[in-house]
Amino acid sequence: MIYLNKDDLLIQLEKISGMDFVSNKTEDLYIYSQDPGASEPRPVDFVVLPKNVEEIQKIIELANREKIPLIPMGGGLTLSGLIIPIRGGIVLDLKRMNQILEINEISRYALIEPGVTTGQLLAHLNDHYPDLQPAIPDAPPSATVTGNALIHGSGYLSQKYGNHGSMINGLEVVLPSGEICKLGSCALSDCWFTRGPIPDLIGLFTSSFGTMGIITKLSYKLYPKPKMRDMVFGLCKDVNNVPKLVSKITYTELAEDILLGKADKPDYMKGYVTVMVYITGDSEEELESKRKMIKRLYRKNGAQFMKMPERLMNIFLEKPQFAAAAADFRKGGGFEYVGSFLPLEKTPEAIEKATAISNKYNIIPTLILRIIGKGHCVMFAPTFAFNRADPADIENARNALDETNKLVLELGGIPWKAELAGQKLIVEKMDPNYKKLLKSIRNVIDPNGIMNPGNWEVN
Ligand SMILES: Cc1cc2nc3c(=O)[nH]c(=O)nc-3n(C[C@H](O)[C@H](O)[C@H](O)COP(=O)(O)OP(=O)(O)OC[C@H]3O[C@@H](n4cnc5c(N)ncnc54)[C@H](O)[C@@H]3O)c2cc1C
Repeated sequence: MIYLNKDDLLIQLEKISGMDFVSNKTEDLYIYSQDPGASEPRPVDFVVLPKNVEEIQKIIELANREKIPLIPMGGGLTLSGLIIPIRGGIVLDLKRMNQILEINEISRYALIEPGVTTGQLLAHLNDHYPDLQPAIPDAPPSATVTGNALIHGSGYLSQKYGNHGSMINGLEVVLPSGEICKLGSCALSDCWFTRGPIPDLIGLFTSSFGTMGIITKLSYKLYPKPKMRDMVFGLCKDVNNVPKLVSKITYTELAEDILLGKADKPDYMKGYVTVMVYITGDSEEELESKRKMIKRLYRKNGAQFMKMPERLMNIFLEKPQFAAAAADFRKGGGFEYVGSFLPLEKTPEAIEKATAISNKYNIIPTLILRIIGKGHCVMFAPTFAFNRADPADIENARNALDETNKLVLELGGIPWKAELAGQKLIVEKMDPNYKKLLKSIRNVIDPNGIMNPGNWEVN
């Protein structure tokens, strides 16, 4: 609900961020009212591109006074509509806050502003710190490091080091009150190297979808970059072999990344689970010994090694992979996936049931699974492509997503970066005292309910 009229609000916002960085024009707001996933477009009142923390504080003060929602946005690429306002309001597009403030080579972290993209950080490290690598997703390079870490994203270093949310060392947050709060070791000094050992409040800001505050600085772990990488490709006919195979491979600590897949096209792939185990090393001898060990593990645990044609191998060895090609956005294609965190032992049932859901909705079954943290968790992602020009086709994908969300919850998993409908399913199943605690914290932190309202709503 807006109290000042829109023209007055526009003037106030322009005073804060400048006329060039504020808009309420339909043509500017169009792009912010939707994302590349299957969510319905929703109206936006204003977009503002702040340049610094002081501007954000002033915008928050105005939003509290006028009770107008604020929606922080990085690259806007979650595919699950998380940056499309649910109750209108101001989208805070943070792309102008894009400074890499520090690279600490010894404690291995990057201190960045929220608009720094994954492509930008990768390029910066490649150019200036070739022995270091960031953990980034297989998302388009305009995704932000902050947006991705905040939603517990994952990528090619997640098997070894965990999900990206766990790689946050520290945060600077502008709270909904407008106060600036530092979390992690940066709360005590200028060293941004660890999130403990003090009560860990960083978790309040991860997977909370912008409902707790606006992150203005983030310290993110960096990792040593190996000299060489290879991939050992395998096929598994019996899906029931997957958990044991994965736990045997992770036991050896040989793998950098483990990706599993199931795609029923081309026809000869039907029924098979593909297994891609990435290995790294500093010499050809090291890689060769790892290749031999992985092949042996395949043989002993129900999978068979397959030699991959060089042309395909070069594509699969690219890290991050250009997954956006799958959606063919340029031709108007779209896709969305139910990403979810699932226990490893539930993967056979999940693969079989998600394949059945895809077939029910006439979508070619395409499932991706990434092992996270040495098998402590699996990122399970049934993918649903659709034709953006056909509303019935988008609705069909949405129904398939809904059914898959329910399946994941039945299996003891949790839908990841859940869209509004998925959040509701999660909240329904949540322990009542978890809900109570969440509600109390939200009420204390954000009494006017200005931060991305409608998300994680608990009654
Ligand atoms: C083709 C494709 C492939 C993908 N592959 C992967 C993959 O391999 N792994 C993976 O993890 N993801 C993947 N994704 C999903 C998604 O693109 C990424 O997770 C992406 O990094 C999200 O970052 P973003 O900057 O787009 O976040 P946004 O969508 O901008 O934001 C995500 C959430 O965080 C909040 N937020 C953002 N910035 C702030 C801030 N400064 N303060 C407070 N809240 C904030 C937003 O309000 C929103 O709720 C893929 C997406 C596509 C389109």
